[in-house]
Amino acid sequence: MIPIAKPQLGEEEKQAVLEVLDSGMLAQGPRVKAFEEAFAAMCGVKYAIATSSGTTALHVALLAHGIGAGDEVITSAFTFIASANSILYTGARPVFVDIDPATFNLDPAKIEAAITPRTRAIMPVHLFGLTCDMGPIMELAAQYGLVVIEDACQAHGAEYRGRRAGSFGTGAFSLYPTKNITSAEGGMITTNDPVIDEKCRVLRQHGMRRRYYHDELGFNFRMTDVHAAIGLAQLGKLERFNAARIANAAFLNAHLTGVIPPVTPEGQRHVFHQYTVRVKGGQRDALAEHLKAHGVGSMVYYPVPIHQQTFYVNELGYDLQLPETEAAAAEVLSLPVHPALSPADLETIVAAVNSFDEV
Ligand SMILES: *Cc1c(COP(=O)(O)O)cnc(C)c1O
Repeated sequence: MIPIAKPQLGEEEKQAVLEVLDSGMLAQGPRVKAFEEAFAAMCGVKYAIATSSGTTALHVALLAHGIGAGDEVITSAFTFIASANSILYTGARPVFVDIDPATFNLDPAKIEAAITPRTRAIMPVHLFGLTCDMGPIMELAAQYGLVVIEDACQAHGAEYRGRRAGSFGTGAFSLYPTKNITSAEGGMITTNDPVIDEKCRVLRQHGMRRRYYHDELGFNFRMTDVHAAIGLAQLGKLERFNAARIANAAFLNAHLTGVIPPVTPEGQRHVFHQYTVRVKGGQRDALAEHLKAHGVGSMVYYPVPIHQQTFYVNELGYDLQLPETEAAAAEVLSLPVHPALSPADLETIVAAVNSFDEV
Protein backbone atom coordinates (compact mmCIF):
# COMPACT_ATOMS: atom_id res chain seq x y z
CA MET A 1 0.00 0.00 0.00
CA ILE A 2 1.35 3.43 -0.93
CA PRO A 3 0.86 5.40 2.31
CA ILE A 4 -0.77 8.84 2.40
CA ALA A 5 2.13 10.16 4.53
CA LYS A 6 5.65 8.97 5.28
CA PRO A 7 8.11 10.85 7.52
CA GLN A 8 11.59 11.03 5.97
CA LEU A 9 14.08 10.41 8.75
CA GLY A 10 17.71 9.59 7.99
CA GLU A 11 21.20 9.43 9.44
CA GLU A 12 21.29 13.18 10.15
CA GLU A 13 18.29 12.95 12.48
CA LYS A 14 19.64 9.83 14.22
CA GLN A 15 23.07 11.38 14.72
CA ALA A 16 21.57 14.64 16.00
CA VAL A 17 19.44 12.80 18.58
CA LEU A 18 22.38 10.71 19.79
CA GLU A 19 24.46 13.87 20.26
CA VAL A 20 21.77 15.33 22.49
CA LEU A 21 21.50 12.12 24.51
CA ASP A 22 25.29 12.04 24.93
CA SER A 23 25.31 15.69 26.02
CA GLY A 24 23.04 14.87 28.95
CA MET A 25 21.13 18.14 28.34
CA LEU A 26 17.69 16.99 27.25
CA ALA A 27 15.26 19.79 28.04
CA GLN A 28 14.88 23.10 26.20
CA GLY A 29 18.45 24.26 25.52
CA PRO A 30 20.95 25.12 22.77
CA ARG A 31 19.30 22.96 20.06
CA VAL A 32 15.97 24.66 20.62
CA LYS A 33 17.65 28.04 20.26
CA ALA A 34 19.43 26.99 17.07
CA PHE A 35 16.21 25.53 15.65
CA GLU A 36 14.32 28.76 16.44
CA GLU A 37 16.94 30.88 14.67
CA ALA A 38 17.00 28.67 11.59
CA PHE A 39 13.20 28.51 11.45
CA ALA A 40 12.90 32.31 11.68
CA ALA A 41 15.35 32.62 8.78
CA MET A 42 13.34 30.09 6.73
CA CYS A 43 10.19 32.19 7.19
CA GLY A 44 11.91 35.55 6.73
CA VAL A 45 10.90 36.79 10.20
CA LYS A 46 12.88 38.17 13.14
CA TYR A 47 11.73 35.73 15.83
CA ALA A 48 10.62 32.13 16.19
CA ILE A 49 9.53 30.51 19.45
CA ALA A 50 9.49 26.71 19.70
CA THR A 51 6.65 24.99 21.54
CA SER A 52 5.48 21.46 22.27
CA SER A 53 2.99 21.27 19.35
CA GLY A 54 1.20 23.23 16.66
CA THR A 55 -1.82 23.39 18.96
CA THR A 56 0.18 24.99 21.78
CA ALA A 57 1.81 27.36 19.26
CA LEU A 58 -1.66 28.59 18.22
CA HIS A 59 -2.83 28.78 21.84
CA VAL A 60 0.20 30.80 22.98
CA ALA A 61 0.08 33.08 19.90
CA LEU A 62 -3.55 33.98 20.68
CA LEU A 63 -2.82 34.58 24.38
CA ALA A 64 0.24 36.69 23.55
CA HIS A 65 -2.08 39.02 21.65
CA GLY A 66 -4.36 39.27 24.67
CA ILE A 67 -7.22 37.32 23.12
CA GLY A 68 -9.61 35.82 25.68
CA ALA A 69 -13.13 35.67 27.07
CA GLY A 70 -15.63 37.87 25.25
CA ASP A 71 -13.54 38.05 22.08
CA GLU A 72 -14.36 36.61 18.67
CA VAL A 73 -11.83 35.17 16.24
CA ILE A 74 -12.78 34.67 12.60
CA THR A 75 -11.53 31.43 11.06
CA SER A 76 -12.39 28.51 8.78
CA ALA A 77 -14.47 25.46 9.73
CA PHE A 78 -12.76 23.41 7.00
CA THR A 79 -9.60 22.58 8.92
CA PHE A 80 -8.20 20.36 11.65
CA ILE A 81 -10.02 20.82 14.96
CA ALA A 82 -6.96 22.40 16.62
CA SER A 83 -7.45 25.67 14.71
CA ALA A 84 -10.77 26.35 16.46
CA ASN A 85 -9.98 24.55 19.73
CA SER A 86 -6.99 26.83 20.32
CA ILE A 87 -9.42 29.76 20.20
CA LEU A 88 -11.73 28.04 22.70
CA TYR A 89 -8.82 27.43 25.12
CA THR A 90 -8.40 31.20 25.48
CA GLY A 91 -12.08 31.70 26.30
CA ALA A 92 -12.75 33.39 22.95
CA ARG A 93 -15.34 32.19 20.40
CA PRO A 94 -14.48 30.97 16.91
CA VAL A 95 -16.63 32.62 14.23
CA PHE A 96 -16.67 30.51 11.10
CA VAL A 97 -16.59 32.01 7.62
CA ASP A 98 -17.12 29.95 4.47
CA ILE A 99 -14.31 28.96 2.10
CA ASP A 100 -13.46 29.70 -1.51
CA PRO A 101 -14.37 26.43 -3.28
CA ALA A 102 -11.38 26.72 -5.64
CA THR A 103 -8.70 26.92 -2.93
CA PHE A 104 -10.45 25.43 0.18
CA ASN A 105 -9.21 28.51 2.09
CA LEU A 106 -11.15 31.31 3.84
CA ASP A 107 -13.03 33.42 1.29
CA PRO A 108 -11.83 37.00 1.96
CA ALA A 109 -15.02 38.40 0.38
CA LYS A 110 -17.07 36.80 3.18
CA ILE A 111 -14.99 37.99 6.14
CA GLU A 112 -16.24 41.56 6.47
CA ALA A 113 -19.85 40.52 7.10
CA ALA A 114 -18.67 38.41 10.06
CA ILE A 115 -16.87 41.27 11.83
CA THR A 116 -18.63 42.49 15.01
CA PRO A 117 -17.57 44.85 17.83
CA ARG A 118 -16.23 41.74 19.61
CA THR A 119 -13.96 40.63 16.74
CA ARG A 120 -10.32 40.76 17.80
CA ALA A 121 -8.54 38.58 15.29
CA ILE A 122 -8.64 36.72 12.00
CA MET A 123 -7.05 33.27 11.87
CA PRO A 124 -6.44 32.37 8.22
CA VAL A 125 -5.65 28.65 7.89
CA HIS A 126 -3.22 27.93 5.04
CA LEU A 127 -4.82 24.58 4.28
CA PHE A 128 -3.03 21.75 2.45
CA GLY A 129 0.10 23.90 1.92
CA LEU A 130 -1.53 26.82 0.09
CA THR A 131 -1.57 30.25 1.73
CA CYS A 132 -4.84 32.11 2.06
CA ASP A 133 -5.44 35.18 -0.10
CA MET A 134 -3.42 37.34 2.30
CA GLY A 135 -3.63 40.65 0.38
CA PRO A 136 -7.31 41.33 1.10
CA ILE A 137 -7.10 39.66 4.53
CA MET A 138 -4.30 41.97 5.67
CA GLU A 139 -6.19 44.98 4.27
CA LEU A 140 -9.32 44.07 6.24
CA ALA A 141 -7.28 43.48 9.38
CA ALA A 142 -5.65 46.90 9.06
CA GLN A 143 -8.98 48.60 8.36
CA TYR A 144 -10.67 47.09 11.44
CA GLY A 145 -7.62 46.97 13.73
CA LEU A 146 -7.60 43.17 13.93
CA VAL A 147 -4.77 40.84 14.84
CA VAL A 148 -3.83 38.18 12.27
CA ILE A 149 -2.81 34.76 13.61
CA GLU A 150 -1.83 32.52 10.69
CA ASP A 151 -2.46 28.82 11.16
CA ALA A 152 0.53 27.79 9.05
CA CYS A 153 0.62 24.26 10.50
CA GLN A 154 0.43 22.81 6.97
CA ALA A 155 2.40 25.50 5.13
CA HIS A 156 6.15 25.36 5.89
CA GLY A 157 7.81 27.29 3.07
CA ALA A 158 4.60 28.23 1.25
CA GLU A 159 4.65 31.68 -0.36
CA TYR A 160 2.21 34.42 -1.26
CA ARG A 161 3.59 37.14 -3.58
CA GLY A 162 7.14 36.23 -2.55
CA ARG A 163 6.48 36.27 1.20
CA ARG A 164 6.45 33.17 3.30
CA ALA A 165 3.57 31.77 5.32
CA GLY A 166 3.96 32.87 8.92
CA SER A 167 5.46 36.27 8.00
CA PHE A 168 2.22 38.25 7.55
CA GLY A 169 0.89 38.23 11.10
CA THR A 170 1.88 35.97 13.97
CA GLY A 171 2.41 32.48 12.53
CA ALA A 172 1.93 29.04 14.11
CA PHE A 173 3.46 25.89 12.65
CA SER A 174 3.17 22.20 13.55
CA LEU A 175 6.01 19.68 13.44
CA TYR A 176 3.82 16.58 13.77
CA PRO A 177 5.16 13.52 11.85
CA THR A 178 2.84 13.93 8.84
CA LYS A 179 3.68 17.62 8.25
CA ASN A 180 6.17 18.79 5.60
CA ILE A 181 8.92 18.57 8.23
CA THR A 182 8.73 17.00 11.69
CA SER A 183 10.31 17.01 15.13
CA ALA A 184 8.08 14.04 16.19
CA GLU A 185 5.87 16.46 18.13
CA GLY A 186 6.51 20.17 18.17
CA GLY A 187 5.40 23.61 17.13
CA MET A 188 6.82 27.00 16.21
CA ILE A 189 5.50 30.56 16.53
CA THR A 190 6.83 33.21 14.13
CA THR A 191 6.70 36.99 14.53
CA ASN A 192 8.48 40.24 13.73
CA ASP A 193 7.21 41.86 16.95
CA PRO A 194 9.69 41.81 19.87
CA VAL A 195 6.86 42.27 22.41
CA ILE A 196 4.96 39.23 21.10
CA ASP A 197 8.21 37.25 21.00
CA GLU A 198 8.86 37.96 24.67
CA LYS A 199 5.26 37.24 25.70
CA CYS A 200 5.32 33.88 23.92
CA ARG A 201 8.56 32.89 25.64
CA VAL A 202 7.11 33.77 29.05
CA LEU A 203 3.78 31.97 28.45
CA ARG A 204 5.64 28.87 27.24
CA GLN A 205 7.50 28.64 30.55
CA HIS A 206 5.02 29.13 33.42
CA GLY A 207 4.81 32.92 33.13
CA MET A 208 8.41 33.15 34.31
CA ARG A 209 10.72 36.05 33.48
CA ARG A 210 13.09 35.55 36.41
CA ARG A 211 13.67 32.02 37.64
CA TYR A 212 10.84 31.00 40.03
CA TYR A 213 9.16 34.41 39.91
CA HIS A 214 5.81 34.07 38.15
CA ASP A 215 4.14 37.26 36.91
CA GLU A 216 1.23 35.61 35.10
CA LEU A 217 -0.41 32.26 34.40
CA GLY A 218 1.77 30.35 31.96
CA PHE A 219 2.22 26.76 30.85
CA ASN A 220 4.82 24.09 30.27
CA PHE A 221 4.69 24.16 26.47
CA ARG A 222 8.44 23.80 25.97
CA MET A 223 10.14 21.83 23.21
CA THR A 224 12.93 19.45 24.24
CA ASP A 225 16.43 19.55 22.73
CA VAL A 226 15.83 15.99 21.48
CA HIS A 227 12.90 17.19 19.39
CA ALA A 228 14.73 20.33 18.29
CA ALA A 229 17.67 18.24 17.08
CA ILE A 230 15.32 16.26 14.82
CA GLY A 231 13.57 19.45 13.68
CA LEU A 232 16.83 21.19 12.85
CA ALA A 233 18.00 18.26 10.70
CA GLN A 234 14.62 18.21 8.97
CA LEU A 235 14.66 21.96 8.35
CA GLY A 236 17.84 21.50 6.34
CA LYS A 237 15.87 19.24 3.99
CA LEU A 238 12.69 21.31 3.75
CA GLU A 239 13.47 22.86 0.36
CA ARG A 240 14.26 19.46 -1.12
CA PHE A 241 11.11 17.93 0.40
CA ASN A 242 8.93 20.78 -0.86
CA ALA A 243 10.46 20.63 -4.34
CA ALA A 244 9.64 16.90 -4.45
CA ARG A 245 6.05 17.53 -3.31
CA ILE A 246 5.61 20.25 -5.94
CA ALA A 247 7.02 17.99 -8.69
CA ASN A 248 4.81 15.08 -7.59
CA ALA A 249 1.75 17.37 -7.64
CA ALA A 250 2.67 18.62 -11.12
CA PHE A 251 2.85 15.02 -12.36
CA LEU A 252 -0.53 14.18 -10.83
CA ASN A 253 -2.07 17.38 -12.25
CA ALA A 254 -0.81 16.46 -15.71
CA HIS A 255 -2.04 12.87 -15.69
CA LEU A 256 -5.13 12.42 -13.50
CA THR A 257 -8.54 12.24 -15.15
CA GLY A 258 -12.06 12.16 -13.75
CA VAL A 259 -11.28 14.27 -10.66
CA ILE A 260 -10.88 18.02 -10.10
CA PRO A 261 -7.21 18.67 -9.28
CA PRO A 262 -6.01 21.31 -6.78
CA VAL A 263 -5.28 24.83 -8.09
CA THR A 264 -2.33 27.10 -7.37
CA PRO A 265 -3.41 30.73 -7.81
CA GLU A 266 -1.07 33.13 -9.64
CA GLY A 267 1.68 34.50 -7.40
CA GLN A 268 1.59 31.65 -4.87
CA ARG A 269 3.87 28.77 -3.99
CA HIS A 270 1.77 25.77 -2.95
CA VAL A 271 3.88 23.30 -0.96
CA PHE A 272 1.34 20.45 -1.15
CA HIS A 273 1.16 19.31 2.43
CA GLN A 274 -1.76 17.46 0.87
CA TYR A 275 -2.69 16.88 -2.76
CA THR A 276 -6.44 17.17 -2.52
CA VAL A 277 -8.84 16.52 -5.38
CA ARG A 278 -12.61 16.87 -5.61
CA VAL A 279 -14.71 13.92 -6.65
CA LYS A 280 -18.12 14.84 -8.03
CA GLY A 281 -21.33 12.81 -8.23
CA GLY A 282 -21.17 11.37 -4.70
CA GLN A 283 -18.37 9.02 -5.79
CA ARG A 284 -15.69 10.10 -3.32
CA ASP A 285 -15.94 7.18 -0.92
CA ALA A 286 -16.23 4.71 -3.80
CA LEU A 287 -13.04 6.11 -5.32
CA ALA A 288 -11.25 5.77 -1.96
CA GLU A 289 -12.30 2.09 -1.82
CA HIS A 290 -11.19 1.56 -5.42
CA LEU A 291 -7.78 3.11 -4.64
CA LYS A 292 -7.39 0.91 -1.57
CA ALA A 293 -8.08 -2.17 -3.69
CA HIS A 294 -5.31 -0.98 -6.04
CA GLY A 295 -2.77 -0.44 -3.24
CA VAL A 296 -3.11 3.35 -3.00
CA GLY A 297 -3.72 4.98 0.38
CA SER A 298 -5.90 8.08 0.51
CA MET A 299 -7.58 10.13 3.23
CA VAL A 300 -10.45 12.56 3.69
CA TYR A 301 -9.25 15.83 5.23
CA TYR A 302 -11.75 16.68 6.70
CA PRO A 303 -14.99 14.68 6.66
CA VAL A 304 -16.82 16.77 9.30
CA PRO A 305 -16.42 20.57 9.29
CA ILE A 306 -15.84 22.04 12.74
CA HIS A 307 -19.23 23.78 13.01
CA GLN A 308 -20.83 20.32 12.64
CA GLN A 309 -18.63 18.50 15.17
CA THR A 310 -20.67 17.07 18.05
CA PHE A 311 -18.99 19.14 20.74
CA TYR A 312 -19.49 22.38 18.80
CA VAL A 313 -23.17 21.63 18.12
CA ASN A 314 -24.22 20.07 21.44
CA GLU A 315 -22.06 21.96 23.92
CA LEU A 316 -21.42 25.28 22.19
CA GLY A 317 -24.68 25.64 20.27
CA TYR A 318 -23.25 26.19 16.80
CA ASP A 319 -26.09 26.20 14.29
CA LEU A 320 -25.08 27.67 10.95
CA GLN A 321 -24.72 26.64 7.34
CA LEU A 322 -21.50 26.98 5.38
CA PRO A 323 -22.43 25.61 1.95
CA GLU A 324 -18.96 25.61 0.35
CA THR A 325 -17.35 24.13 3.46
CA GLU A 326 -19.98 21.38 3.63
CA ALA A 327 -19.69 20.61 -0.10
CA ALA A 328 -15.90 20.35 0.20
CA ALA A 329 -16.16 17.99 3.19
CA ALA A 330 -18.35 15.70 1.08
CA GLU A 331 -16.18 15.78 -2.06
CA VAL A 332 -12.49 16.00 -1.10
CA LEU A 333 -10.00 13.19 -1.24
CA SER A 334 -6.27 13.55 -0.55
CA LEU A 335 -3.86 11.36 -2.52
CA PRO A 336 -0.23 10.54 -1.65
CA VAL A 337 2.14 13.38 -2.68
CA HIS A 338 4.96 12.99 -0.12
CA PRO A 339 8.66 13.10 -1.08
CA ALA A 340 9.16 9.33 -0.68
CA LEU A 341 7.00 8.52 -3.73
CA SER A 342 8.93 6.84 -6.54
CA PRO A 343 8.14 7.36 -10.25
CA ALA A 344 6.54 3.89 -10.15
CA ASP A 345 4.36 4.93 -7.18
CA LEU A 346 3.17 7.99 -9.11
CA GLU A 347 2.30 5.78 -12.10
CA THR A 348 0.41 3.45 -9.77
CA ILE A 349 -1.59 6.33 -8.29
CA VAL A 350 -2.46 7.71 -11.73
CA ALA A 351 -3.45 4.28 -13.09
CA ALA A 352 -5.61 3.60 -10.03
CA VAL A 353 -7.44 6.94 -10.18
CA ASN A 354 -7.88 6.89 -13.94
CA SER A 355 -9.19 3.32 -13.99
CA PHE A 356 -12.05 4.43 -11.71
CA ASP A 357 -13.62 6.23 -14.70
CA GLU A 358 -14.18 2.90 -16.36
CA VAL A 359 -15.70 0.90 -13.48
C1 LIG B 1 -1.59 19.74 12.48
C2 LIG B 1 -2.42 20.96 12.57
C3 LIG B 1 -2.61 21.67 13.76
C4 LIG B 1 -2.12 21.17 15.10
O1 LIG B 1 -0.81 20.82 15.17
P1 LIG B 1 -0.33 19.70 16.26
O2 LIG B 1 1.15 19.77 16.15
O3 LIG B 1 -0.90 18.40 15.83
O4 LIG B 1 -0.83 20.14 17.58
C5 LIG B 1 -3.34 22.84 13.72
N1 LIG B 1 -3.88 23.28 12.58
C6 LIG B 1 -3.76 22.63 11.42
C7 LIG B 1 -4.39 23.19 10.19
C8 LIG B 1 -3.05 21.43 11.37
O5 LIG B 1 -2.96 20.76 10.24
